[in-house]
Amino acid sequence: MRKLEGRTIVVASHNRGKLEEIGALIAPFGLSAKSAADYQLPEPEETGTEFEQNAYIKAFAAASATGLPALSDDSGLCVDALGGAPGVYTADWAQQPDGSRDFAQAMRITEEKLHEAGASQPDQRKARFVSVLCLCWPDGHAEYFRGETDGTLVWPPRGRNGHGYDPMFMPDGHAITFAEMSPEEKQGIGAPLSHRARSFALFADAMLGRQ
Ligand code: IMP
Repeated sequence: MRKLEGRTIVVASHNRGKLEEIGALIAPFGLSAKSAADYQLPEPEETGTEFEQNAYIKAFAAASATGLPALSDDSGLCVDALGGAPGVYTADWAQQPDGSRDFAQAMRITEEKLHEAGASQPDQRKARFVSVLCLCWPDGHAEYFRGETDGTLVWPPRGRNGHGYDPMFMPDGHAITFAEMSPEEKQGIGAPLSHRARSFALFADAMLGRQ
């Protein structure tokens, strides 16, 4: 596995919720993180059918444009009763004609599809959040770190914290949704809880050394 040599990386994301989470995860390691917005990097089209492919597209675009190692996150929600959908299309279910995203709509679509599938009981509403981090160097070399969190989808949505589909997602072993948790609780107290905290823990172990 190739190691990080410098302490400056680019976080290849335009998603504010993800940038805030990654910024908080990186902070204790003394890594200096620039964001894609600092470099006015365009958002590449995510044409992959796997999280790893889209993570690579974003990280390689940022690394080759800046000459720095770039860290991207491709993530999404995989619902068992929907055959793993929306998966890599998770953000698309929120897409509005003017280019903005509406996650209340995305959650409504998810609920409608669960209803059509007859998934009314908690054990029929199992889902998994997946986060794949890709660290890519300007020469195209890449390392991947995958984190997953299993849970159940609730309706109606609950809580005001977090972002995206958080108000619908209740992680296993908890009685509240990600959106009812503080950012610290979502990250995990004692052990990583969110998919992104888990992928990041793998990245930190491999690249930065334990704190
Ligand atoms: P990406 O930017 O293509 O990776 O889109 C991933 C989408 O998955 C985001 O726009 C969110 O809708 C959703 N998502 C990823 N991580 C989370 C999370 O931690 N909470 C809620 N939604 C998430």
